Amino acid sequence: MVSLTTFLFNPLTLGYDLGQHHPFKSIRPEAVKHLLEAFSVPLDVRGFAPATLEDILTVHSRSYVQRVVRASHGEPVTDALEYGIGTSDTPIFAGMHDATAFVCGGTLEAARLIASGKSTRVLSLAGGLHHAQLASGSGFCVYNDLSIAIRHLTNLGLRVAYLDIDAHHGDGVQWLHYTENQVLTISLHETGRYLFPGTGYTYELGRGDGVGYSLNVPLEPYTQDRSYLEALERVLTPALAWFKPDLLVIQGGADSHEFDPLADLALSTQGYKAAYQLIVQLAEQFAGGRILATGGGGYATLHAVPRVWAEWYAALEGIELPNQVPQVWLEHWQPQSVETLPEVMTDDAIQIPRQAQIEAANAKTVTELLEAWQRIHKANP
Ligand SMILES: [Zn+2]
Repeated sequence: MVSLTTFLFNPLTLGYDLGQHHPFKSIRPEAVKHLLEAFSVPLDVRGFAPATLEDILTVHSRSYVQRVVRASHGEPVTDALEYGIGTSDTPIFAGMHDATAFVCGGTLEAARLIASGKSTRVLSLAGGLHHAQLASGSGFCVYNDLSIAIRHLTNLGLRVAYLDIDAHHGDGVQWLHYTENQVLTISLHETGRYLFPGTGYTYELGRGDGVGYSLNVPLEPYTQDRSYLEALERVLTPALAWFKPDLLVIQGGADSHEFDPLADLALSTQGYKAAYQLIVQLAEQFAGGRILATGGGGYATLHAVPRVWAEWYAALEGIELPNQVPQVWLEHWQPQSVETLPEVMTDDAIQIPRQAQIEAANAKTVTELLEAWQRIHKANP
């Protein structure tokens, strides 16, 4: 059977190692690949080269990149904190420039494969470093692979719709493209009232030529599947119908899952599966089916992320996975987890008493966002 989806994988992205006690674990793509193989899903696995310095400089300032290179070689960087590195979130580590260049290389290769027509759907799970800014690292992210890929695509004249379903606001990508009208950014996340990075409000709608090209859905903590899917559908459908993108770039972060230790959204794996399926369906309808898919956050490293991202691949590929997690996978990964790993793909819904109020608050947020957005388009038809 021929795969529809190219699965980009390079073991050198393992070098994106923020430390033994850091929540970000670069083993995740390997755990997902192994799970799909354990399900006997045929994968079209391809490698990729690192992004070049020139590629990275299409997005990041030279002064920032120079500091990352120096830190990477163990040279002292006295003003590292001004550049957002050397923090507990985004520590300096040996080889950080080269390892991040590999992460960026995957997402950039995905962009090239889609732009050249060689692939329609590409998944690069090491990618998704959405917090990195023009001149600083932030929130576990050194370089912004997503914006490097988006810049490659817009330089070819393509219109890019970027959707970020990570639990945290996709701030780096938003600010890097905030004044552009060739890039529509949409982020669904736990409200910045409670969660890093503290931005992503409905009034962040773009600036200059980019007014109306930035949409944010700040969701209440403990939002569950039904309310999440309703918000996603209500925003994504009209936005894509209006923008008519050439392709979608999706940061598919898995930290909106109910088991995630760093955020408070409460999606189940089946909720994620439905979200991914909706994204694929809308890509078919509005973007010629073209999807550049990445990973992102996700800190229930073995407990939730492999199942969530296996469903990401399955949605891209248009296949159904069995509900039973294969024994061979559990036997391999259980010794590395302090928690007992789930034996089925689906999760039981957590009982959250205030769900009706949470759903009402989210529905109101979406209505406010759509009204503000429509006012802009009435003013600039
Ligand atoms: Zn996140």
